Amino acid sequence: MNEKPRQSLTPPDGQKKVLLHSCCAPCSGEVMEAMIASGIDYTIFFYTPNIHPEREYLLRKDENIRFADKHGVPFVDADYDKDDWFARAKGMEWEPERGVRCTMCFDMRFERTALYAHEHDFPVMTSSLGISRWKNMAQINECGQRAVSPYDGLSYWDFNWRKGGGSARMIEISKQERFYQQEYCGCAYSLRDTNAHRRSQGRPAIELGKLYYGTNDDAS
Ligand code: SF4
Repeated sequence: MNEKPRQSLTPPDGQKKVLLHSCCAPCSGEVMEAMIASGIDYTIFFYTPNIHPEREYLLRKDENIRFADKHGVPFVDADYDKDDWFARAKGMEWEPERGVRCTMCFDMRFERTALYAHEHDFPVMTSSLGISRWKNMAQINECGQRAVSPYDGLSYWDFNWRKGGGSARMIEISKQERFYQQEYCGCAYSLRDTNAHRRSQGRPAIELGKLYYGTNDDAS
């Protein structure tokens, strides 16, 4: 557990039970420790059918399971609906990151998270996605609010996990835990576009499973 002081967090309406949609261990590590420090009873919901290829999906999932086990946090391993994800992304293959494809991607993941929260009596759901500085937090929060809107008694907690040193602790925890360090957002199109960018800079293509925080000079 990271020992730096943290603010005490209170989920919406003073609730203490939360379903945490997790995208990966590096993003959720700080969110998890922050909630533990505030005595919040939470469960991780891992639903990331966007991740491609499956090897990368399993790398990210296994890291998250390892850290959940370390803290004794319940972990729900949801379906890898990759065919459904690709079907929904049809026509959006060339959209830039933070565009409409990403809205679809967040909506899909959050819809499933909200349904699970509703069916299992969680009054609050939130996500680790917004802690990444690469993401548009307003876009994520809009998707979160849309996902909970069909359900009375379910709130989306739009807490800014980057605040109060959260971003720095996210990196610190990732290094301490030697988490797998993914080098692209997750989908096949982000892998393609990231590799194209790297090629334009004379850098080699991404090698899956190669980088781990705290073990490489450029791991930050
Ligand atoms: S770039 Fe990331 S958020 Fe956007 S569609 Fe791909 S995996 Fe989803």
